Amino acid sequence: MLLENQRTAIVEFGKKLVKSGLTTGTGGNLSCVDRAENLVVISPSGIDYDEMMAGDVVVLDMTGNIIDGKLKPSSETGIHIGLYCRRPDVSAVIHTHSPYATTMACLNMEIPAVHYLVGFSGTKVPVAPYATFGTEQLAKNVSDTIGKFNAVLMANHGLITVGADLLRAFCVAEEIEFVARIYYQTKNIGKPVILSDREMNNVMKKFADYGQRKKKV
Ligand code: 13P
Ligand code: ZN
Repeated sequence: MLLENQRTAIVEFGKKLVKSGLTTGTGGNLSCVDRAENLVVISPSGIDYDEMMAGDVVVLDMTGNIIDGKLKPSSETGIHIGLYCRRPDVSAVIHTHSPYATTMACLNMEIPAVHYLVGFSGTKVPVAPYATFGTEQLAKNVSDTIGKFNAVLMANHGLITVGADLLRAFCVAEEIEFVARIYYQTKNIGKPVILSDREMNNVMKKFADYGQRKKKV
């Protein structure tokens, strides 16, 4: 099977999204790109993650033509390909309807640095203007909003995260959902204290050698 490892990874991370409560049913979608081959590996449209098999995952070229797979690719293929074209540093994209991030998206409210873990996105999580799901306009809005951030809220819809691989894009989705929840909770009982861009830049530098990662020399 063409790009079998990547197709299997899409299935595994889809199940992880459901297990972690980041999505339900057939909501959201995920992809990765093989930069050497210029091929995108993306979840099929409207298939339950619990039932998805590697052969259901669709392989596309960078213009969205189907190279391998029998099923229709995700309705948000335009967002995924748009981000791969805009951001050469990105090789995986995840879209979720996770509840707290989606709450902020429905308020059209960006997520500020209420907790240092917003650094998984950058100094904040911006909001892309609303457009109907699955449209070129929505893909354009996301692409025009992402800048250097690793997460974008889609107004009245959900969250998009990006990373160098599926694990990193998944971790961004998980941490940003946590920060969205903290922001929601703090706003419920008081006035959240927001960290400065300067402090967030310190945090992001420290992330580079956090845990067992080697510091770049
Ligand atoms: P797909 O099942 O077509 O990927 O759509 C799910 C979704 O979340 C649309 O925004
Ligand atoms: Zn969606």
